[in-house]
Amino acid sequence: AKAMGRNNFQFYTACMNQAAVRHMQLESGLKQALANNELYLVYQPKYEVKSGKLIGMEALLRWHSDKLGPVSPVEFIPLAEETGMINTIGGWVLQQVCQQLAQWRQQGLQPVPVAINLSAKQLNNHIVDEVQQALTTCELTASLLELELTESAVMQHPAESIAILARLEALGLTLAVDDFGTGYSSLAYLKRFPIHTLKIDKEFVRDISDDPEDAAITSAIIALAHSLDLLVVAEGVETQEQLHFLASQGCDQVQGYLLGKPMSVADCSGLLQAKAEP
Ligand code: C2E
Ligand code: CA
Ligand code: CA
Ligand code: CA
Repeated sequence: AKAMGRNNFQFYTACMNQAAVRHMQLESGLKQALANNELYLVYQPKYEVKSGKLIGMEALLRWHSDKLGPVSPVEFIPLAEETGMINTIGGWVLQQVCQQLAQWRQQGLQPVPVAINLSAKQLNNHIVDEVQQALTTCELTASLLELELTESAVMQHPAESIAILARLEALGLTLAVDDFGTGYSSLAYLKRFPIHTLKIDKEFVRDISDDPEDAAITSAIIALAHSLDLLVVAEGVETQEQLHFLASQGCDQVQGYLLGKPMSVADCSGLLQAKAEP
């Protein structure tokens, strides 16, 4: 038992070391990522259920590290938040999206609104100036930008969040609550947030065809959103059955591999071009 205890100890320290080493590699890698041009955005299309029309896109960050290879945002976004790097990275995302929108317009394409994911850490008064600056520089109307915030981000400091979101809304931006249903929004607060859209998390969408409870939750979120005059988007739609169910429940917009994966700028330009053709 004693020997095993020691082995266990070694095992744990080895694992902890591995995690610590990875953490350190990621942290120092991420610090260089912007300067090394290792970050880029992909865009996932969003469709209106009723018409089947392309009505928006979501910008999703990608990191291909020279040293570590591709790293998922699920791994590096929390690290960026923890180290404070999210402010620089988030600012870059905002500028990149605005420049992209301006470029599409310059190419004679009619861009659709693009949604940006915002971390809780970015939800401060500084972001309002940053957004305004980016819009002005690129000569864009604010309605081309949408911000997605998680429930937990806005619920950390509800009163402060409401004030900042109100300023963003006053600029003309559209605001969405991301991953809805996974956090603990108080419905009382939901009513007071100046938001336009609820996004149903893909966790609920995944099992709507076989799990009656997930189906019930999804229907309830759609009904709740509509009774509060909000739009509903379902993310993670992968099958016709899921799409069918969501349509039958009156879901307004959908996003998912069935309709379009996150794609390169070139592929998005193609989508915008196809949209313009009669
Ligand atoms: P999210 O905002 O909930 O984004 C949806 C995630 O689901 C994306 O993962 C997307 O690629 C993936 N997805 C889309 N359709 C499907 C589908 O049909 N099936 C499945 N299984 N997955 C689908 P991704 O790109 O790995 O991003 C993960 C998370 O990282 C995002 O979750 C978001 O919270 C965060 N993130 C990504 N880019 C940014 C960013 O620029 N800033 C911030 N703050 N967070 C970001
Ligand atoms: Ca999102
Ligand atoms: Ca999600
Ligand atoms: Ca999310």
